[in-house]
Amino acid sequence: MGVFKNEAFAGHEQVVFCHDATSGLKAIIAVHSTALGPAAGGCRMWSYASDDEALRDALRLSKGMSYKNAMAGLDLGGGKAVIIGDAKKDKSEALFRAFGRFVEGLSGKYITAEDVGISVSDMEIVARETAHVGGLNTGKAASGDPSPFTARGTYNGIVAAVRHRLARENLKGLRVAVQGLGHVGWHLCEELHAAGAKLIVADINDAVVQKAVATFGASAVSCDEILFYNVDVLAPCALGAVLNEQTIPRIKAPIVAGAANNQLASATDGHLLRLQKILYAPDYVINAGGIINVAGEIGGRYDRASVERKVANIHDVLLDIFKRADHEGRSTSDVADSMAQEKILQAQQLHGNDMQIGKTAKNVA
Ligand code: NAD
Repeated sequence: MGVFKNEAFAGHEQVVFCHDATSGLKAIIAVHSTALGPAAGGCRMWSYASDDEALRDALRLSKGMSYKNAMAGLDLGGGKAVIIGDAKKDKSEALFRAFGRFVEGLSGKYITAEDVGISVSDMEIVARETAHVGGLNTGKAASGDPSPFTARGTYNGIVAAVRHRLARENLKGLRVAVQGLGHVGWHLCEELHAAGAKLIVADINDAVVQKAVATFGASAVSCDEILFYNVDVLAPCALGAVLNEQTIPRIKAPIVAGAANNQLASATDGHLLRLQKILYAPDYVINAGGIINVAGEIGGRYDRASVERKVANIHDVLLDIFKRADHEGRSTSDVADSMAQEKILQAQQLHGNDMQIGKTAKNVA
């Protein structure tokens, strides 16, 4: 496996391969950048088809966290962990304790939290071995479930996109298609419904779709149709790579603004969206509400008002990106990437990495 030659390696600072024979743990911790502070990002548990696939996922996700944390104005770098295994069958206390010891071994350079396949109770076990954990329900600064904050930030981003693209000050009567009614999608529907938007929804879980129809008066459509519906806003809140060469030409919505991670299948898809006059809210900017909330916990003194201010600011950051993209004739994803890279580079030039880790790690609860 060529780690340095992997196309997703992209200047990572450190990649740790973790193996514990007793518990069967096989994990990869990728630290993309610590220029802005300790590398923070969740831990995913997934049955990867190969070790290469797991490595690529860890590398792509950790770079995404560097950009997300930079654009959210957090004193955090970017990292991510993946545990190779079936989240339904392979979990054990020994496995999460072993993972916690590997995180502890990085002495605060990487801070973990929940991601796909990992629950708060799993992280509570990890927290018995290391203090470098966020997203807990217990402890003096516990911040709990990040999803409502992710949904609130996504809602703020949709408002910004509607202002910019449709010149409308509110969402009353606008048609919004929400793909995926999970933790984030459901909370987003609550916010959109309260603002007077008309909801069109799809999920592979029919029960939650029926609940949305009953609760919000939403129209249910099939999972195959939702991306291509004639709506004002398309909000992908389920899977990655939904915006690609095949789907983009068929999208009718003038705005794509949703919470799902890694929505673009490739970097060129941002340009395709622009060519089709679709305003795209870069995913790692609009969905930063959750990590903003977790970051509040990392400082050891959770301050809800400060978290809410930062989540509200997602609106302004996106408006800035949209205006720059128009002005410079570039895609919004390109502009966001450049802005994030600039922030990381500036921090590297100002401080160097070690100083930032030392400074912030002391604050970890
Ligand atoms: P979740 O697992 O709770 O919800 C995902 C939902 O999508 C589920 O209801 C699932 O049935 C549905 N789904 C799966 N495949 C589908 C398909 N083909 N068509 C329609 N629906 C489908 O996850 P979540 O926490 O709500 O996260 C949703 C997305 O937002 C993910 O991409 C996640 O990475 C991203 N995200 C989440 C957070 C957070 O705070 N939870 C933060 C940032 C980004």
